[in-house]
Amino acid sequence: GARVAFAAGQVTDESGRLLATAEGSWHLWTRKPGTSPAPRKPYVQVEGTGETVEVGKILAIGRNYADHVAEMNAPKAGPPVLFFKPATAVIHHGDSIVLPGGAGEVHHEVELVAVIGEGGKQIREQDALNHVLGYAVGLDMTLRDVQAKAKEKGTPWSLAKGFDSSAPVSRVMPQDQVGDGSGLAIRLTVNGEQRQASNTDHMMRSVAELIAFASKTVTLERGDLLFTGTPAGVGPVNPGDSLTAELEKVGTLTVAVRAEE
Ligand code: MG
Repeated sequence: GARVAFAAGQVTDESGRLLATAEGSWHLWTRKPGTSPAPRKPYVQVEGTGETVEVGKILAIGRNYADHVAEMNAPKAGPPVLFFKPATAVIHHGDSIVLPGGAGEVHHEVELVAVIGEGGKQIREQDALNHVLGYAVGLDMTLRDVQAKAKEKGTPWSLAKGFDSSAPVSRVMPQDQVGDGSGLAIRLTVNGEQRQASNTDHMMRSVAELIAFASKTVTLERGDLLFTGTPAGVGPVNPGDSLTAELEKVGTLTVAVRAEE
């Protein structure tokens, strides 16, 4: 049932001297003879087992760290801001964020991502963690100028948040290795320079609270991703940049940035 194959090899000369090594992974799909390859469904991969989980929808929370609320001059009170990204926005470690042409500034937002295991509706806060498969570190890439215009006009943020490659996500660390998502150092560097550094203890609402909140109105399903908001330090990225996101106990995610061709 695995959908990803790994292979590693070595090249030696006749005396057995090592000349080169290579390793890589391939995503597998089936197709009928004579047809085009099936489009690859967006997925995340679980650390350790290598199991892949198809991504359903992506729910994202805005304004969940007070220092980011302050840097955006956003309202402090009120219910959490919830928006969506399409599953097709997912990219992985080693992939590239492709900047849409003519869209203005594109900002990084490093975030803890909770991956839903067991689905549910109207999940109680005290039961919420039973619905978490694990955690990843992700980037909620944002077309900041497009979003600012939408805020001005009171229109949805969809295009600012949902463009292809706008949701880089690391491998998923199973929940039993991580806990409830609190107390984790979170960091983002751009070309080795630190831009965002915080701790998930500074989240205004916990993973469990956010699952309870979101599932009041939206049915959660296995493979849904919940982006939980970003700390202060957001800023623009440029073609050629290398972004590395780190989340304690969870892992590291490195992606490149390039312009649309
Ligand atoms: Mg965000």
